[in-house]
Amino acid sequence: MPELPRLVCASANPDKVAEMALVLEGIVELLPRPQGLADVVEDADDLEGNARLKAAAVCAAAGAPAVSDDTGLEVDALGGAPGVHSARYAGARPSYADNVEKLLFELQRVGATSAEDRTARFRTVVMAVWPDGTELSAQGIVEGAIAEGPRGSGGFGYDSIFVPSEGDGRTFGEMGDDKHAISHRGRALRALAEALGVVAAELRRA
Ligand code: IMP
Repeated sequence: MPELPRLVCASANPDKVAEMALVLEGIVELLPRPQGLADVVEDADDLEGNARLKAAAVCAAAGAPAVSDDTGLEVDALGGAPGVHSARYAGARPSYADNVEKLLFELQRVGATSAEDRTARFRTVVMAVWPDGTELSAQGIVEGAIAEGPRGSGGFGYDSIFVPSEGDGRTFGEMGDDKHAISHRGRALRALAEALGVVAAELRRA
């Protein structure tokens, strides 16, 4: 039985770390982020750039390969906002509720009232970076719409207002772990794990 690939988790967000651990269980051994490491400044122009900044910083600090996640919620009626700025949509250090409130307010402001007007998607880029600079990335997308108001207490971030198109009308906040079968993060991490498996198999053959 080949050993699982080991990656240090570059995320400092405990909600994300829990989801990453769940999706990667039995596929990748996820090691904890080094303690005391300062937050990485996420000032890249896109999700891939931010994912690279986080994975490279944690890889350098840990001296071991690291995996990061950067996620954005793209709302069509808002020209793709908040997108790469999803974490700080409502200000410098907003709560999840602040961001949700601001998004609902902006949709009201532009007159996006019907479900067809409120289409959106979550996009996640995950990236693994090795100490020699090698990197591997994957993307996961889930299409959906923004609900009229928050529903459900599961998940985190914008989950209470996102209704995935492939679901049964529940928001991600109303789902349990079944969120991961169709979620942006589940898809991105499974694609990354598959790519890791292919690389590992090629290395074993070489
Ligand atoms: P970042 O990837 O840490 O920059 O997160 C971007 C923003 O999106 C943060 O406000 C997160 O709370 C939110 N977010 C990230 N992933 C999810 C998710 O799976 N569901 C809902 N919100 C999320």
